Amino acid sequence: MRRKIIAGNWKMNKTGAEAIELAKALKVKSVNIERADMVICPPFTALYQTAEIIKASKIKLGAQNVYWEDSGAFTGEISLPMLKDAGCEYAIIGHSERRQFFGETDETVNRKIQKVTGSDLTAIVCVGETLEQRKAGDTERIINTQISNGFAGITQEQMKRIIIAYEPIWAIGTGMTATPEQAEDVHLFIRNLIKSLYGAAAADMIRIQYGGSVKPDNAAELLSQPDIDGALVGGASLKADAFIEIIKAA
Ligand code: PEP
Repeated sequence: MRRKIIAGNWKMNKTGAEAIELAKALKVKSVNIERADMVICPPFTALYQTAEIIKASKIKLGAQNVYWEDSGAFTGEISLPMLKDAGCEYAIIGHSERRQFFGETDETVNRKIQKVTGSDLTAIVCVGETLEQRKAGDTERIINTQISNGFAGITQEQMKRIIIAYEPIWAIGTGMTATPEQAEDVHLFIRNLIKSLYGAAAADMIRIQYGGSVKPDNAAELLSQPDIDGALVGGASLKADAFIEIIKAA
């Protein structure tokens, strides 16, 4: 039985003071939650403050991005040692907004996965199709390409440090959630793909999150699907009550 994992992607929201306030509220409200793993991913500038608040709680810290070199002349980038130093245990890789607005490709995603899975952090690797691709019946082909190229050279051992987030781009921040059936279909496709690439044990072990307008009122149905092992939550993770409701739905 895979343990569910709910991660909150705060995106470019929350100053240091605002992050502290939200983290404090989450810490208090999550005290009795045992059933799911919880991760929050503040912006880089709020990682240290947030880590300080959640250190004596069950909530783990994640980053929204990472660069594959450890240090050097890479203006504006943040390295894995920096994330570790800030207290991160997870890093989101290849979010669709990074692919869409910041030129991330399956190749850069691959380099980042290589980096993170070679450490003791866990990579949350995002994949997903656009509305046009779905309408054209291309969803599975797109996901296949993103995973086959993004995971090139990744070993079975490294797979233990990977969570996949299936995030249909048309459902992110739009209020248009995938139906539980639509999401489950793709999750099962992904699990079968992992089985063909890494074997049955890896496929059975890997956790696949759904992301795209997950809210307290649709979380339970999505999370009850057999191949949905958690959620990557954007908008609803910015409010403590809504995020906790989603975690409770797991
Ligand atoms: C996301 O950004 O990963 C996401 C799923 O956003 P939202 O929940 O706001 O759709």
